[in-house]
Amino acid sequence: MCKKVVVFDLDDTLYKEIDFLKSAYRHIASLVSNANAPEEAVYELMLNTYQTGGNAFEETVRQFGFRLYSVQWMLCVYRHHKPKITLDENTWQTLEQLKANGVTMGIISDGRLQQQWNKIEALELMKFVDKKNIVINDIEDRFKPDRRSFRFFMDKFGKEADYWYIGDNTAKDFVAPNSLGWTTVCLLDDGRNIHRQTMPTGANMDVRHINEIPKIIG
Ligand SMILES: [Mg+2]
Repeated sequence: MCKKVVVFDLDDTLYKEIDFLKSAYRHIASLVSNANAPEEAVYELMLNTYQTGGNAFEETVRQFGFRLYSVQWMLCVYRHHKPKITLDENTWQTLEQLKANGVTMGIISDGRLQQQWNKIEALELMKFVDKKNIVINDIEDRFKPDRRSFRFFMDKFGKEADYWYIGDNTAKDFVAPNSLGWTTVCLLDDGRNIHRQTMPTGANMDVRHINEIPKIIG
């Protein structure tokens, strides 16, 4: 039987990136709050500003008149905080099932190293994915659709294996794996994604729910 290698994107594929943002805002609000700036009010202002397309940190510093806390400091906390995020039940069960089926799993994600690893740790993804099969591209030159992170898996597991890439970003996720002969699957936006999807998605197939994946892989 052919070896099956299923590689996932991270943000808005294995969890919703908006939950990371909310976790960071919550943490920042708890750090800066005082008698004149209650935690809940700071959090709500940040979230509302973000949702209406404004700069959440600039607006927060301006409206509450913070002197000790700068926009730059907030950005730093945003990137380095340990997020309170979890895998949802469906995703957990999907990964458990793939693992039980003997599927080799991996992750390819673009972003800041510490930020992405903090997410991976919080989500307990290393229960399912070997650390050596997690590729974080933190240099723009290597961001998807660059092929190098996909080739890494092909060099490691060989030409005979079957490869899948599961992602959400219709602009960049599927170009490289399609060109390398992988089967690509787009997890459709349920309305919570940060990046809007275009139709057609560019993937070989689209799924509404992540728990459709084990059936597709077989
Ligand atoms: Mg994504």
